[in-house]
Amino acid sequence: MLTLHEVTAGYGDTTVLRDVNLTVGDGEVVALLGPNGAGKTTLLRAATGFLRPRSGRVSLDGKDMTAEPAHRYARRGVCHLPEGRGIFPSLTVRENIAIQARGRDVEKSAAEVVDLFPALGTRLRQAAGSLSGGEQQMLALSRAYITSPRLVVVDEASLGLSPRVTDTIYELLARLAERGVSLVVVEQYVQRALALARTVYILNHGAVIHVGRANDITADDIYEKYLGIG
Ligand code: ATP
Repeated sequence: MLTLHEVTAGYGDTTVLRDVNLTVGDGEVVALLGPNGAGKTTLLRAATGFLRPRSGRVSLDGKDMTAEPAHRYARRGVCHLPEGRGIFPSLTVRENIAIQARGRDVEKSAAEVVDLFPALGTRLRQAAGSLSGGEQQMLALSRAYITSPRLVVVDEASLGLSPRVTDTIYELLARLAERGVSLVVVEQYVQRALALARTVYILNHGAVIHVGRANDITADDIYEKYLGIG
Protein backbone atom coordinates (compact mmCIF):
# COMPACT_ATOMS: atom_id res chain seq x y z
CA MET A 1 0.00 0.00 0.00
CA LEU A 2 2.84 2.42 0.86
CA THR A 3 6.09 2.56 -1.08
CA LEU A 4 9.08 4.82 -0.62
CA HIS A 5 11.51 4.64 -3.50
CA GLU A 6 15.01 6.12 -3.12
CA VAL A 7 13.73 8.85 -0.81
CA THR A 8 16.17 11.56 0.22
CA ALA A 9 14.90 14.17 2.67
CA GLY A 10 16.09 16.62 5.30
CA TYR A 11 15.74 20.05 6.82
CA GLY A 12 17.40 23.16 5.32
CA ASP A 13 20.98 22.24 4.47
CA THR A 14 20.87 19.02 6.48
CA THR A 15 20.21 15.78 4.66
CA VAL A 16 18.73 13.23 7.06
CA LEU A 17 17.47 10.39 4.85
CA ARG A 18 19.49 9.05 1.98
CA ASP A 19 17.97 6.89 -0.77
CA VAL A 20 15.57 5.08 1.53
CA ASN A 21 13.45 2.25 0.12
CA LEU A 22 10.56 0.94 2.18
CA THR A 23 7.44 -1.04 1.34
CA VAL A 24 4.41 -1.65 3.53
CA GLY A 25 1.89 -4.15 2.21
CA ASP A 26 -1.85 -4.28 2.95
CA GLY A 27 -2.23 -5.34 6.57
CA GLU A 28 1.52 -5.56 7.09
CA VAL A 29 3.05 -4.41 10.38
CA VAL A 30 6.49 -2.86 10.07
CA ALA A 31 8.74 -2.01 13.01
CA LEU A 32 11.13 0.81 12.26
CA LEU A 33 14.08 0.67 14.65
CA GLY A 34 17.38 2.48 15.00
CA PRO A 35 19.47 4.56 17.38
CA ASN A 36 18.55 8.10 18.41
CA GLY A 37 18.93 10.51 15.56
CA ALA A 38 18.89 7.75 12.92
CA GLY A 39 16.08 9.51 11.07
CA LYS A 40 13.06 7.40 12.11
CA THR A 41 10.79 10.38 12.79
CA THR A 42 11.94 12.04 9.59
CA LEU A 43 11.10 8.88 7.65
CA LEU A 44 7.59 8.74 9.12
CA ARG A 45 7.08 12.39 8.20
CA ALA A 46 8.34 11.85 4.66
CA ALA A 47 6.00 8.86 4.33
CA THR A 48 2.87 10.79 5.31
CA GLY A 49 3.17 14.12 3.53
CA PHE A 50 4.49 16.13 6.48
CA LEU A 51 7.92 16.51 4.90
CA ARG A 52 8.34 16.65 1.15
CA PRO A 53 11.25 14.51 -0.06
CA ARG A 54 14.06 16.23 -1.93
CA SER A 55 14.22 13.36 -4.33
CA GLY A 56 12.74 9.93 -4.75
CA ARG A 57 9.11 8.92 -4.75
CA VAL A 58 6.38 8.14 -2.25
CA SER A 59 3.32 6.28 -3.46
CA LEU A 60 0.09 4.94 -2.00
CA ASP A 61 -1.58 2.08 -3.83
CA GLY A 62 0.58 2.90 -6.83
CA LYS A 63 -0.44 6.58 -6.93
CA ASP A 64 2.42 9.06 -6.78
CA MET A 65 1.97 11.13 -3.61
CA THR A 66 5.46 12.69 -3.45
CA ALA A 67 4.31 16.28 -3.91
CA GLU A 68 1.03 15.93 -2.00
CA PRO A 69 0.38 17.56 1.40
CA ALA A 70 -0.45 15.55 4.52
CA HIS A 71 -4.22 16.07 4.32
CA ARG A 72 -4.30 14.26 0.97
CA TYR A 73 -2.60 11.30 2.62
CA ALA A 74 -5.18 11.46 5.40
CA ARG A 75 -7.97 11.41 2.83
CA ARG A 76 -6.51 8.20 1.45
CA GLY A 77 -6.65 6.56 4.85
CA VAL A 78 -3.26 7.41 6.32
CA CYS A 79 -3.21 8.28 10.03
CA HIS A 80 0.01 9.76 11.43
CA LEU A 81 0.35 9.66 15.22
CA PRO A 82 3.32 11.90 16.02
CA GLU A 83 5.62 11.63 18.99
CA GLY A 84 4.36 13.95 21.72
CA ARG A 85 0.72 12.93 21.38
CA GLY A 86 -0.72 15.41 18.87
CA ILE A 87 -3.77 16.35 20.92
CA PHE A 88 -5.14 19.77 21.89
CA PRO A 89 -4.43 20.16 25.63
CA SER A 90 -6.72 23.14 26.28
CA LEU A 91 -9.74 21.48 24.66
CA THR A 92 -11.78 18.86 26.47
CA VAL A 93 -11.50 15.16 25.74
CA ARG A 94 -14.85 15.26 23.95
CA GLU A 95 -13.78 18.25 21.85
CA ASN A 96 -10.60 16.40 20.90
CA ILE A 97 -12.69 13.41 19.86
CA ALA A 98 -14.96 15.72 17.83
CA ILE A 99 -11.92 17.00 15.92
CA GLN A 100 -10.55 13.50 15.45
CA ALA A 101 -13.90 12.30 14.19
CA ARG A 102 -13.60 14.58 11.13
CA GLY A 103 -17.29 14.88 10.40
CA ARG A 104 -18.32 11.51 11.80
CA ASP A 105 -20.95 11.29 14.52
CA VAL A 106 -19.32 12.68 17.68
CA GLU A 107 -21.51 10.79 20.18
CA LYS A 108 -20.88 7.53 18.40
CA SER A 109 -17.16 8.25 18.18
CA ALA A 110 -16.98 9.15 21.88
CA ALA A 111 -18.84 5.94 22.77
CA GLU A 112 -16.35 3.94 20.69
CA VAL A 113 -13.42 5.60 22.43
CA VAL A 114 -14.86 4.96 25.89
CA ASP A 115 -15.57 1.36 24.94
CA LEU A 116 -11.96 1.02 23.87
CA PHE A 117 -10.43 2.96 26.75
CA PRO A 118 -12.84 2.94 29.72
CA ALA A 119 -10.42 5.15 31.66
CA LEU A 120 -11.49 8.06 29.44
CA GLY A 121 -15.19 7.55 30.20
CA THR A 122 -15.34 9.83 33.21
CA ARG A 123 -13.06 12.42 31.65
CA LEU A 124 -14.92 13.56 28.56
CA ARG A 125 -15.52 17.07 29.94
CA GLN A 126 -12.02 17.49 31.28
CA ALA A 127 -9.26 19.44 29.49
CA ALA A 128 -7.11 16.94 27.62
CA GLY A 129 -3.98 18.58 29.05
CA SER A 130 -5.05 17.63 32.57
CA LEU A 131 -5.10 13.90 31.79
CA SER A 132 -2.24 11.65 32.85
CA GLY A 133 0.40 10.91 30.21
CA GLY A 134 -1.09 7.48 29.61
CA GLU A 135 -4.61 8.82 29.21
CA GLN A 136 -3.34 11.49 26.80
CA GLN A 137 -1.70 8.79 24.72
CA MET A 138 -4.93 6.77 24.73
CA LEU A 139 -6.80 9.84 23.52
CA ALA A 140 -4.20 10.44 20.80
CA LEU A 141 -4.42 6.81 19.65
CA SER A 142 -8.21 6.96 19.57
CA ARG A 143 -7.80 8.82 16.29
CA ALA A 144 -6.37 5.68 14.72
CA TYR A 145 -9.48 3.82 15.79
CA ILE A 146 -12.44 6.05 15.05
CA THR A 147 -11.33 7.27 11.62
CA SER A 148 -10.99 3.71 10.20
CA PRO A 149 -7.62 4.33 8.58
CA ARG A 150 -5.90 1.85 6.26
CA LEU A 151 -2.39 2.76 7.38
CA VAL A 152 -1.38 3.97 10.83
CA VAL A 153 2.07 5.40 11.44
CA VAL A 154 3.00 5.59 15.13
CA ASP A 155 6.02 7.42 16.54
CA GLU A 156 7.15 6.15 19.96
CA ALA A 157 3.71 5.32 21.32
CA SER A 158 5.10 4.13 24.67
CA LEU A 159 7.40 7.07 25.38
CA GLY A 160 7.27 7.95 29.07
CA LEU A 161 4.44 5.52 29.84
CA SER A 162 4.23 2.80 32.49
CA PRO A 163 4.48 -0.85 31.36
CA ARG A 164 0.78 -1.31 32.15
CA VAL A 165 -0.33 1.62 30.00
CA THR A 166 2.09 0.52 27.30
CA ASP A 167 0.38 -2.90 27.32
CA THR A 168 -2.98 -1.18 26.74
CA ILE A 169 -1.55 0.84 23.88
CA TYR A 170 -0.03 -2.25 22.26
CA GLU A 171 -3.29 -4.17 22.64
CA LEU A 172 -4.93 -1.45 20.58
CA LEU A 173 -2.21 -1.62 17.93
CA ALA A 174 -2.60 -5.43 17.78
CA ARG A 175 -6.35 -4.98 17.40
CA LEU A 176 -5.83 -2.61 14.49
CA ALA A 177 -3.46 -5.13 12.89
CA GLU A 178 -6.06 -7.89 13.31
CA ARG A 179 -8.56 -5.69 11.48
CA GLY A 180 -6.14 -5.62 8.55
CA VAL A 181 -4.83 -2.10 9.11
CA SER A 182 -1.21 -1.61 7.99
CA LEU A 183 1.10 -0.24 10.66
CA VAL A 184 4.52 1.37 10.80
CA VAL A 185 5.71 1.54 14.38
CA VAL A 186 8.74 3.40 15.69
CA GLU A 187 9.56 2.02 19.13
CA GLN A 188 12.46 2.09 21.58
CA TYR A 189 11.40 -1.19 23.19
CA VAL A 190 12.67 -3.62 20.60
CA GLN A 191 10.90 -6.62 22.18
CA ARG A 192 7.52 -4.95 21.95
CA ALA A 193 8.09 -3.94 18.36
CA LEU A 194 9.20 -7.47 17.40
CA ALA A 195 6.18 -9.03 19.08
CA LEU A 196 3.83 -6.92 16.98
CA ALA A 197 5.61 -6.65 13.65
CA ARG A 198 6.05 -8.96 10.71
CA THR A 199 8.85 -6.97 9.13
CA VAL A 200 11.74 -5.06 10.68
CA TYR A 201 13.58 -2.15 9.15
CA ILE A 202 16.68 -0.83 10.88
CA LEU A 203 17.80 2.67 10.10
CA ASN A 204 21.16 4.22 10.89
CA HIS A 205 22.50 7.59 9.77
CA GLY A 206 19.47 8.00 7.54
CA ALA A 207 19.96 4.76 5.60
CA VAL A 208 18.25 1.38 5.83
CA ILE A 209 20.90 -1.05 7.10
CA HIS A 210 18.69 -4.11 7.59
CA VAL A 211 15.34 -5.39 6.36
CA GLY A 212 14.03 -8.75 7.48
CA ARG A 213 11.26 -10.75 9.06
CA ALA A 214 10.65 -10.10 12.75
CA ASN A 215 10.62 -13.87 13.35
CA ASP A 216 14.14 -14.24 12.02
CA ILE A 217 15.85 -11.89 14.44
CA THR A 218 16.02 -11.52 18.21
CA ALA A 219 15.99 -8.34 20.23
CA ASP A 220 19.49 -9.19 21.52
CA ASP A 221 20.77 -9.47 17.94
CA ILE A 222 19.30 -6.11 17.12
CA TYR A 223 20.89 -4.45 20.14
CA GLU A 224 24.27 -6.09 19.54
CA LYS A 225 24.54 -5.80 15.80
CA TYR A 226 22.67 -2.65 15.02
CA LEU A 227 22.04 -0.47 18.01
CA GLY A 228 25.44 -0.85 19.61
CA ILE A 229 24.07 -1.24 23.10
CA GLY A 230 24.18 -4.92 24.06
P1 ATP B 1 14.97 9.85 18.02
O1 ATP B 1 14.91 8.39 18.29
O2 ATP B 1 16.00 10.55 18.84
O3 ATP B 1 13.64 10.55 17.98
P2 ATP B 1 15.01 9.66 15.12
O4 ATP B 1 15.64 8.42 14.61
O5 ATP B 1 13.54 9.75 15.11
O6 ATP B 1 15.59 9.98 16.55
P3 ATP B 1 14.94 12.14 13.68
O7 ATP B 1 14.11 12.80 14.72
O8 ATP B 1 14.34 11.82 12.38
O9 ATP B 1 15.63 10.83 14.27
O10 ATP B 1 16.22 13.07 13.48
C1 ATP B 1 17.24 12.77 12.56
C2 ATP B 1 18.20 13.95 12.44
O11 ATP B 1 17.50 15.08 11.89
C3 ATP B 1 18.77 14.40 13.77
O12 ATP B 1 20.14 14.69 13.58
C4 ATP B 1 17.99 15.64 14.09
O13 ATP B 1 18.76 16.54 14.82
C5 ATP B 1 17.67 16.20 12.73
N1 ATP B 1 16.39 16.95 12.74
C6 ATP B 1 15.20 16.47 13.12
N2 ATP B 1 14.23 17.40 12.99
C7 ATP B 1 14.85 18.51 12.52
C8 ATP B 1 14.39 19.83 12.16
N3 ATP B 1 13.11 20.18 12.26
N4 ATP B 1 15.33 20.69 11.71
C9 ATP B 1 16.63 20.33 11.59
N5 ATP B 1 17.11 19.12 11.90
C10 ATP B 1 16.24 18.22 12.35
